[in-house]
This record gives sequence, C-alpha cells and structure tokens, in this order.
Amino acid sequence: QAPCITVSTPLSASLDVPLPVLGADVLVPLASGGQIDYAALDCAASAPAARAVWDEVAAFAPHYAGVHRGAGQLSLRATELFERSRAEVAAFLGCRPGDQVVFTRSTTDSLNLLAGALPEGTRVFAFASEHHALLLPWRRHPLTCLPVPRSAAEAVRAVDEALAARPAGTPALLCVTGASNVTGELWPVRELVAVARRHGARVVLDAAQLAPHRAVDLGELDVDWVAFSGHKLYAPFGSGVLAGRGDWLSEAEPYLAGGGATRVVTRGSDGRLAVEWARDEARHEAGSPNVIGALAVAAACRALAAVGFEAIEAHERRLLGVVREGLASVPGVRELSLFGSGADRVAVVSFTVAGREAADAARELSERYGIGVRAGMFCAQPLVRELLDAEADAGCEGPEAAVRVSFGAGTPLAHAERLVL
Ligand code: PLP
Repeated sequence: QAPCITVSTPLSASLDVPLPVLGADVLVPLASGGQIDYAALDCAASAPAARAVWDEVAAFAPHYAGVHRGAGQLSLRATELFERSRAEVAAFLGCRPGDQVVFTRSTTDSLNLLAGALPEGTRVFAFASEHHALLLPWRRHPLTCLPVPRSAAEAVRAVDEALAARPAGTPALLCVTGASNVTGELWPVRELVAVARRHGARVVLDAAQLAPHRAVDLGELDVDWVAFSGHKLYAPFGSGVLAGRGDWLSEAEPYLAGGGATRVVTRGSDGRLAVEWARDEARHEAGSPNVIGALAVAAACRALAAVGFEAIEAHERRLLGVVREGLASVPGVRELSLFGSGADRVAVVSFTVAGREAADAARELSERYGIGVRAGMFCAQPLVRELLDAEADAGCEGPEAAVRVSFGAGTPLAHAERLVL
C-alpha cells in the first residue's frame, strides 16, 4: 500500500505570497496514492486567478448587464464600470494623451488587431526568437525576421542595421518582447526603442510575460503599443489589451465589422451601405464586449499595483533563486538561456534533462509530485530549436523539447521548493 500523503496545513492566501490567488490548496491525486496540494508552476501559460479579481467578478455578477446599448439602470451602471476599467488600465500602463486602450481577447488577438491597422507597405522587424503570436500576424506586410541574438548588444546592433537598410521613408514597426516566454530573460527594451526612434520606426511591446512581473509604463518606455493577456495577469481567459497610439488605430479598417463600431450606417439611393466608423476604441470592439473580462483585467491591475512590483519582484527572485540553484545541482539538467546565465529574468526557467524526454519529465513531476509544468516548444519553435541545437553542438545529446517551470506573485515558496528538494 503506497503511503498516503496528506496536507497538514492547507496553503492559505496569507502564507508567503504577496498576491493571494485561488487554487493554492487544491488537492490532486498522486501515482503513489494519496493526495497533495497542486503546485501550479505553469504561470507563464496561464496564472491562477487572483482572489481580488474573482471577488470583483462575483460582485458584478448580480448586476450583470451589457454595455453601451441598454437604457436600463444596470446597463448604465455596467457601462460606467466598463469605461472606468478602461481608464484604470490606461493609468496602470502609463498611457499618454491620444493613446487608446482596446479590450481584446488576448495578446494574440491584440497583435492581430494591430497587424490589420498598419498602413499599407509598413515594414515589420521581429526577432526569430519571438513567441509565434509576435512572429506570425504580419503576413500581409513585408517582414524581416532577424536572427536569434545571443546578447543584448547583438540585438541592438541587428535592429540598427536592419532599420538602416530599409528603403528611405517607409513606415516601419519593430516588434519587441518584454521578457522571453522560454527563458524568462528580459529584453533590452529601452535600447531597442532608442534605435527604432533614431530610424523613425514605431515599436510594439509584447508584454505577455512582462506585465505580470514588472511595471510597464508606455510613456516611460516610449513604446507605441503594448499588448498583454488577462489570463497571464491573474484574470480570466478571453480578456486582453492593446494599448497605445490612437492615430493608426482610428484610421484603420475596423478589426471586426458590426454593431458598436459605427457612428452612422445608411443605405444610399444606389442601394449601397455607407458606414461612418467610430474613431475611438469602439472602432475595434464591434459586438457585445467581454464586460467581465474588462472588469477583471482592471481588478488585476489594481491588485498588482496595491501589492507593488517591488514586493512581487522580491518574492519571485527568492523563488527563482531556489529553483535555479536547485536545478543547477541536479546532474544532467541544463538551463536554456539566450544571453547567458547571469542575465536578468522574470520567473520563467526552461531546461533539458539529459537522457529524458521533456514530456516524460513533465508527466513525472505531475504524477509523482503534483507539480504542473509545461513541456514542448512553447509556441516559440525557432528559438527553442536553436537553443536545443546549440546544446547538441556543445556535445550534449539534447532532447527534442524542453521543460518549462514558471511562477508568479501568488506562488508559495513551498511549491518552488518541492520542485528541487
Ligand atoms: N507573447 C508571449 C511572450 C507569450 O508568452 C504568449 C503566450 O504564452 C503570447 C504572446 C500569446 O498569449 P495568448 O495565448 O494569451 O494570446
């Protein structure tokens, strides 16, 4: 009979985490028998919902009503809350006058929306190391896919050269990620923006992995747009944000055509429809919007701001130290890195285990220890393939995929310790 593991002290919200999240005390069965509290170490994919966010959603539920349509009191109130959420997200992101905050479904959705709003002929520049969501939406535009850089200086140099080589006067967009979803490493955003500005290019920041861990301020970073996902920011699925300059957005073809995105629709005497589209955020938010998602994202921003990124960073650094030190002491485990092991990073670590398939290692972590991680290429195939090939070149017979461990402001230290102790 396998020993029955019981949880003597259910993990409470107040344990040692700066941001209380739900699900830290959910019990899962172990292959050996018994149960253990689930360690959600896959926050880079989707982070457990913050308690404060769920409370906000629950408080709204009895007053549930659509926005910008109904004349009833609940609709008016919902509209007020929806627009207040927009203003709160704008404040959280340090939006400037003229910036817009468009509620979307996710980072992927935000970047596809932006891709549709680029003026004809815009040249797009992106590193091959990006998540597919930042690499693939630009198909209608000429894309220069820059090689995976192996240092911050190399990244800056590559952008400088590529932007200088484009035909003079063509509009350009540089895609920059805030933090790698594979290695967690921070990108030299400020330096890249400075180069882009020198060449008259605009910049979109993929903050899917940055926003949950560091303050993102549009004005301070001087980026034109930022995109992130609610479900990585302790809010529900199906909510996301594209924030930034309104000029191209308010000229562009609406992302979706339909109700709410228009000012006036008429049928002319020739039988044709004439449409005057809205010029603010509504232009790209056709259809009944995800009101709960918007309220939840705003609540997540409030919760993060209340805890403060200093406290979040300190907590996550402690966990990161435990995990990285522990992994370094396991024979055969090799951490993946773009810029070297000393590079600053958020709470994401990917590694390979000599002689083990990543999927097997991940399954074992789940079945034997109740730890949820991810195995694979993390929707960044060119990058992961290159990092794995580099290992093979170094004489290590590397596996075909990697294991990724990631955590957040709501991860208890005990969960990080379980991975390596
Ligand atoms: N960008 C990065 C860096 C990501 O890590 C992810 C998701 O993992 C995305 C974009 C896409 O996010 P979503 O799936 O929420 O659209």
